[in-house]
Amino acid sequence: MPIINRISDFHEELTAWRRDLHAHPEIAFEEHRTSAIVAERLKEMGIEVHQGLAGTGVVGTLRSGSGPAIGLRADMDALPMAETGDLPHRSTNENKMHACGHDGHTTMLLGAAKYLAETKNFDGTVHFIFQPAEEGHGGGQVMVQDGLFDLFPAEEVYGMHNMPGMAVGEFAVRPGPMMAGRDNFEIRIRGKGSHAAMPHWGVDPVIVGANVVMAMQTITSRNIDPQQALVVSITQFQAGDTFNVIPHEITLKGTCRVFDPELRETLPGRITHIIEGIAGTYGATAELEYFHGYPATVNTVEQSAFCAEVAEEVAGGADKVNLNPVPSMGAEDFSYMLLERPGCYIWTGNGESAGLHHPEYDFNDQALLHGASYWSRLVERRLAKSA
Ligand SMILES: [Zn+2]
Ligand SMILES: [Zn+2]
Repeated sequence: MPIINRISDFHEELTAWRRDLHAHPEIAFEEHRTSAIVAERLKEMGIEVHQGLAGTGVVGTLRSGSGPAIGLRADMDALPMAETGDLPHRSTNENKMHACGHDGHTTMLLGAAKYLAETKNFDGTVHFIFQPAEEGHGGGQVMVQDGLFDLFPAEEVYGMHNMPGMAVGEFAVRPGPMMAGRDNFEIRIRGKGSHAAMPHWGVDPVIVGANVVMAMQTITSRNIDPQQALVVSITQFQAGDTFNVIPHEITLKGTCRVFDPELRETLPGRITHIIEGIAGTYGATAELEYFHGYPATVNTVEQSAFCAEVAEEVAGGADKVNLNPVPSMGAEDFSYMLLERPGCYIWTGNGESAGLHHPEYDFNDQALLHGASYWSRLVERRLAKSA
């Protein structure tokens, strides 16, 4: 049974909801309109609504019988960027854009809520979790800190993201890591400023910085098991103001992406060792500020096997579900929920659209049906009524 027929009946309505959200994007923790719409729709469906977790977060609770409880999560926020496409439903908010498809994620979960509230063909409780601020601001973490799982005790939690380049109706899921952990860092290197024509009067921090950039690449190539994945990128090199002055101090900034939590813990120490050693060699000093970001998104084994079965059912065949996708080095704050509860994060095809975070990206409305059907069948099977 691919798409649920009853959900197909909602397609026009879901498309209108999705396009309205697309035209009115709101960024991290400012999703007031979006959040109000989500709450309103859930209430119309007869679903109990809680608002205010992480500010604009919404949780809808639907009960049917006394079985276990699970959480399904969608993100609601847009990105601070300008939309350049000429869609009829293009962004009407300057420099804000749904370039990651969270408008679609919100709508797919609303579609499932509508269907499940109507049919109630399950035994247990479903918490529909709509979170703010996924894009770099950790709204998922704030919801957890605000007591998400105390207020809404769910035994498992599930997430979904669209994937451009994968056919609509297809899915990809694997046990273990799906998305990387992401940390950022800032390195300050202090030398001694001088006239650029008399470099021997000073200690040139630019030379130190250049050596640091090169040496940092050996963390990936020489310090870790080649079978492991790690990216260390220096993305900002800020030094000096003019042609003829060697600056006194420079700043390097960058990011680390990594799956393995133990490896991740070694990174600040390794970076410190490299920068202090190199700075010392040249008579400069260096210090590191390390900012821990989203942890890796890691699916639990049992739940990912179950999700693969649901995806195969909804996709209409095992050949439409990739069970061994290459994990993404991008990061995702659903990871904070997966640290609290077993669960699974899956990718659903968005077809040949522009890539995520591209200024011409658009969520594919055909995918609404597949995503909403996946959520609905996940509930009907995980919280199956005993025969
Ligand atoms: Zn994104
Ligand atoms: Zn996203």
